[in-house]
Amino acid sequence: MVELKTDTSIDAMHAAGQVVGQALTAVRRAADVGVSLLELERVAREVLKGAGASSPFLGYRPSFAPTPFPAVICASVNDAIVHGIPTTYRLRDGDLLSVDCGAELDGWAGDSAISFTVGRPRASDVRLIETAERALAAGIEAAVVGCRIGDIAHAIGSVCRAAGYGVPQGFGGHGVGRRMHEDPPVPNEGRPGRGMRLRHGMVLAIEPMLIAGGTDGFHAAPDGWTLRTDDGSRAAHVEHTVAITDGGPRILTARQPLQEGPGAAPRSPAP
Ligand code: MG
Ligand code: MG
Repeated sequence: MVELKTDTSIDAMHAAGQVVGQALTAVRRAADVGVSLLELERVAREVLKGAGASSPFLGYRPSFAPTPFPAVICASVNDAIVHGIPTTYRLRDGDLLSVDCGAELDGWAGDSAISFTVGRPRASDVRLIETAERALAAGIEAAVVGCRIGDIAHAIGSVCRAAGYGVPQGFGGHGVGRRMHEDPPVPNEGRPGRGMRLRHGMVLAIEPMLIAGGTDGFHAAPDGWTLRTDDGSRAAHVEHTVAITDGGPRILTARQPLQEGPGAAPRSPAP
C-alpha cells in the first residue's frame, strides 16, 4: 500500500533528508587516499548523532541478509555495486566509492547515495559517475504528477543503456516514509506509461545502479551483503529521496555543493 504524505509530513521528511545530505557531504570530504571505510562510518555516525537522528541501516535485516547490517553507511568500492560493509579497507588512488546513507528524524526517514572517485580518477569512472547522475536526474524529471512509475524506470534505464552500461535487475528504488523501504518499488528499467500513477504526496527513493562492463550480472560477496559485478567491472550508485508534488519533484536529500578546500582540490584524470 502506498501512503500519501501531507505537506507537513513532507517538510518533516525534508528535515530527515537534510541530515542524510550532511552526512554524505561530510563523508565525501573525509574520503581520501589512505582513509579507511570504518573512518568514514565514524564520520557519518557523528553527523547523525549531532543531528539527533538514528540510522535505519544499523541492524537492518531484509530477507536476503544473513546478518543484521552493522553500520550506518554502505561503502561500496570499485566492483561493489551496493550494500558494502565498512571495513578496515583503506582507500587507494583511483578507487571509485559509492556511499549510501539513511537517517530517521522525528519518525521520518531519508535515503540517499553518492558515487565519487578518490585520488586521481580514471576517465572511465568519471564517465560512469556522470552517467549515473544523468540517469538520476532523468528519473527525477519524470517524477511528476500524472506520470507513472514506469516512466521513471524508463527514463533511468534509457540513460544507462544508451551509454552502454549494465543495469542490475531486482534492486532499485522504493517508497520512503516512516520506514526507509515502503511501497511502491521503483525499478531502474521499465516500460513508459505502465505501473502506478504518480500523485501529490508520494515520496520515492530513486536510485540508479550502473555496471561499467555493460552486463547486468551480479553476485553476493562472502559477507552475504555486498553485491559485486559478475564481470569485475566497476559500478556506480546514486540516490535521492524525492517528493512528488503538484509543484513538481522536490528533492528532500539535496546537498550543499562541496566547498573548495584541501579535500576538494581539482584533480587531473589519470591516463
Ligand atoms: Mg539508499
Ligand atoms: Mg534506497
